[in-house]
Amino acid sequence: MVPEDTYSEPIEEMRRRELVEVTIDSLAEVGFVGTTLAQIAARAGVSPGLVAHYFDDKDGLLDAAFRSLARRVGTQVRARLRLVATPRGRIQAVIDANLAPEEFDQRTGSAWLAFWGQVLHVERLKRIQSVYQRRTLSALRNSLLKLVAPDEAHSLAAMIAAMIDGVWLRAALSGWREADSESARAMLTAFVDGRLSQSARAVKAAVDASPSSPAPGQRFASINPATGEILGQFTVSGAAQVNAAVAAAVQAQTIWAAKTSAERGRILRRTADLLRLRNEELAVLESKDTGKPIQETRVVDAASGADCFEYFAGIAQGLSGEHIDLGPQAFGYTRREPLGVVAGIGAWNYPLQIACWKAAPALACGNAMIFKPAELTPFTAVKLQEILAEAGAPLGLFQVVQGFAETGRLLTAHRDIRKVSLTGEVGTGKAVMSDAARTLKNVTLELGGKSPLIIFNDANIDNAVSGALLANFYSSGQVCSNATRVFVHRSIKAAFLERLIKRVNAMRIGDPMNPETQIGALISEEHMHKVLSYIARGRSEGAQILTGGMRVTRGELAKGFFVAPTVFDNCRDDMAIVREEIFGPVMAVLEFEDEEEVIARANATEFGLAAGVFTNDLTRAHRVIARLQAGTCWINHYNVTPVELPFGGVKLSGLGRENGRAALEHYTQLKSVYVAMGNIDAPY
Ligand code: NDP
Repeated sequence: MVPEDTYSEPIEEMRRRELVEVTIDSLAEVGFVGTTLAQIAARAGVSPGLVAHYFDDKDGLLDAAFRSLARRVGTQVRARLRLVATPRGRIQAVIDANLAPEEFDQRTGSAWLAFWGQVLHVERLKRIQSVYQRRTLSALRNSLLKLVAPDEAHSLAAMIAAMIDGVWLRAALSGWREADSESARAMLTAFVDGRLSQSARAVKAAVDASPSSPAPGQRFASINPATGEILGQFTVSGAAQVNAAVAAAVQAQTIWAAKTSAERGRILRRTADLLRLRNEELAVLESKDTGKPIQETRVVDAASGADCFEYFAGIAQGLSGEHIDLGPQAFGYTRREPLGVVAGIGAWNYPLQIACWKAAPALACGNAMIFKPAELTPFTAVKLQEILAEAGAPLGLFQVVQGFAETGRLLTAHRDIRKVSLTGEVGTGKAVMSDAARTLKNVTLELGGKSPLIIFNDANIDNAVSGALLANFYSSGQVCSNATRVFVHRSIKAAFLERLIKRVNAMRIGDPMNPETQIGALISEEHMHKVLSYIARGRSEGAQILTGGMRVTRGELAKGFFVAPTVFDNCRDDMAIVREEIFGPVMAVLEFEDEEEVIARANATEFGLAAGVFTNDLTRAHRVIARLQAGTCWINHYNVTPVELPFGGVKLSGLGRENGRAALEHYTQLKSVYVAMGNIDAPY
């Protein structure tokens, strides 16, 4: 507020104050132009010379009157501020003083309006006005800084000040009809409260959304789900470890990207060779960590990872941009460049394969990768890190961090990580995408599914049964692309079920380390209970169990988490076991009559990862596949995933593709270069 005048002479001071009050009366009654020294003198009953003695001229008098108005508000603000201690209370003090009842009376209001009309033209008044504005703003800002972020404190202070002036001005111009002091203060109070609670909600959302670092030194154990035995202990990576990993990856990526693609390709090929060489060790480790039968892990996990490294080793050598002809005076070209440091976050069902499927294309394209395996399966990604180092990859090029979702979120939120590739559930995919949006990262999301397998009446029934078994019971049913909705044509359903059940009943459930075992353990006790609860729900909803339907606790298996392969008949499309991803050995068989009907029912899901069709009618096979809403499809087979074919989902099953040349799109960015070949014609 305006500095208070300091006069020692009380009489002089009193006279001056009287003259100022008379001036305010005059301004209110006859306005700025009508207010003259002579008129003030006449109103005050003094000589014009006395007025001139105190104020020199009209400008001096008006200056004093304006200061007096502003000072009164300032004194009120200070008096109110002395009474409150909280930041919110101090904001209210500024509002209440500026919009006090005395500021809303006809006389004061008219005087203020008369001055405001002159502020732009009279330098002395402008100075008083700007001091008044600055003080109001700083009083508001100082309090707001204790309540909201600095940027917001500045803008909100300006907004509140503008609203105080605006509300008052509108009220004054409407002859005090639009608002009185009380309603004006109520309006400002509601505005400030609304903005502060909005800001508090935003801060809470940001705090909720921003990753919290796990407690330092937090440990977790990995257990063998077939025996309950503890396999090892791991330390959770917190912000410090993640930051250090990213810093090392940034350096390694620079070295890596500077290599020729042939050099990179050689290292990736050696990685493939080492994965094959260490296949048995990796298979044993993966079976112990996941509970999957060794007969699977010996032929799938490291083998598929090796195929992937070998494939991308070749692709790395052929990575190129394109040349674009732009006429005789210019040409263009594109460079396919790496993104930088990227993150991979894996699910627990194929830990090593997922790490390889993400690392191989990422590294082939010149990126570095930081990978977080699921905390249930932390072992084999570490082996991949060792193998890549042994193959000659620069230190830090592929690093593993361990932990739970918090560690994953540290990667997703990290500003130096340019992309995240996640394999996981739909809900996790949404969380990752929303976290990644805050630093505008690329995302590849390989998510869940509830895929359909359609078996027409002209299909080879034995092949169709094989397909349905591959589509449901591999890895104890813990495969994202599984076709757990098996639609069988009504005319062959009985024959299909008879052969299917016979083969399911012959499956060997047991110790995953026994090469004869075909069905191993589920990943955890918690997951087993989830699968069993779905089975109970299917039963209660009226589906009929043809085989399985229970936990297996025979002998040593009681220590682990085994569920018998289960087939449900009499299923309806609206049952939970038909709509929701169970991620266990649970097949739902459904009956259909005609092609149109089954296509509509197959597509009636929010998922779209995979689909399969069994038929010997060539044209029908392609016609139906073309209409199925799924990213990955099979005709007369199921769940084979050669690395040459892109893999991924549509709808809620994901974004982007892994494998095939399509993966390159997701791990590179294009740079366009225009090259001029002639003189430049500039219009300047
Ligand atoms: P989750 O989604 O629970 O976890 C996947 C990974 O994401 C884990 O490493 C997990 O850490 C981590 N994570 C969890 N929350 C976050 C978060 N907010 N931010 C960053 N990372 C996070 O999946 P599951 O491990 O349970 O795997 C099963 C799912 O994966 C199924 O839905 C299956 O369909 C899908 N899947 C999809 C595949 C595909 O290619 N489409 C292939 C294989 C599986 P942690 O485990 O430590 O909590």
